[in-house]
Amino acid sequence: MRMRESVCFDDVLLVPQMSDIKSRKSVDLSVDLGSGIALGIPFISAPMDTVTGHRMASAMAEAGGLGVIHRYNSIEEQISLFDKSKCFAAAAIGVTGDFAERAESLADAGCKVLCVDVAHGHHISVKSALKTLKSRLGNTVKIMAGNVATLQAFEDLSDWGADMIRVGVGGGSICSTRLQTGHGVPTLQSVIDCASSDRGALIIADGGIKNSGDMSKALAAGADLVMMGRLLAGTEEAPGETVQVNGKKCKVYRGMASPEAQVAWRGEYRSNEGVSRTVPFKGYAENILSELERGVRSALSYSGARTLKEFRAKADFIKQSPLGRVESGTHIDI
Ligand code: IMP
Repeated sequence: MRMRESVCFDDVLLVPQMSDIKSRKSVDLSVDLGSGIALGIPFISAPMDTVTGHRMASAMAEAGGLGVIHRYNSIEEQISLFDKSKCFAAAAIGVTGDFAERAESLADAGCKVLCVDVAHGHHISVKSALKTLKSRLGNTVKIMAGNVATLQAFEDLSDWGADMIRVGVGGGSICSTRLQTGHGVPTLQSVIDCASSDRGALIIADGGIKNSGDMSKALAAGADLVMMGRLLAGTEEAPGETVQVNGKKCKVYRGMASPEAQVAWRGEYRSNEGVSRTVPFKGYAENILSELERGVRSALSYSGARTLKEFRAKADFIKQSPLGRVESGTHIDI
């Protein structure tokens, strides 16, 4: 048995530093994914059926980020969502059943980034799926894979051929994995651990990101990109109808391992590691994304950093006490 300590987003703050940045516009948030693919902002929308369909993928691409079209549909339906997404989109696949055929069909349709999307990414089935994908598709597509929680897992997936790795297990806002299984690592701690690797795979912080402050902490701790579900759920572009709850407009946001989501896509539920909720309707994703982008740009300015690389190099974290946490939130109402 071993036991160690960890930090989560709310345990830490970034220490402000001398800055000569006069405008948030002079901050560069671009990320190079390789093979001529670059993003203007390091934001990715999660491959969930209440987050990324073709409208969210289009909104993400227009904002300079990337949407990952969910896989809880037939190959034909997913290709149609991909075709309807403007410019640029990634698409998720699994590791069993039709995953190889799905991957080839998506690649044939022009998809340049595939996401091997499973809850426990440090798994033999992911190793064999990555082998299959590499042998069938070579280096014609970039492979995102995950999710992982540890440095060992990150390095294994990188060695198995993943170009980008989703880091975070059990931290999602709709996730009950830690309650059901006792397993997980705070997402920020996993990012810190994986960032010590010398492997070239990009780190995607995924799960539990509540605001641009958390995004900034993840990026400063070593993430190249951040993935979000909750922050984009309930927007106009998120798949699903708006419903009225107590006279207020809402949309459903559900974990893909929730009983509700599993019954919808495979007719029954086999595990229960997520929940389904209605969340307030939030308007257009575009507005949410620009607000988040403004927050991250300001974060780089507070650290005196012009690029994400500089931000990571300069990052100076401080732990805060429980009372510090209270002071860190708005507290006029206390
Ligand atoms: P959020 O941004 O905190 O809402 O977390 C979104 C992330 O939660 C996704 O990108 C997935 O990694 C993860 N996730 C999605 N569905 C489930 C689930 O049902 N159980 C556990 N984790 C999930």
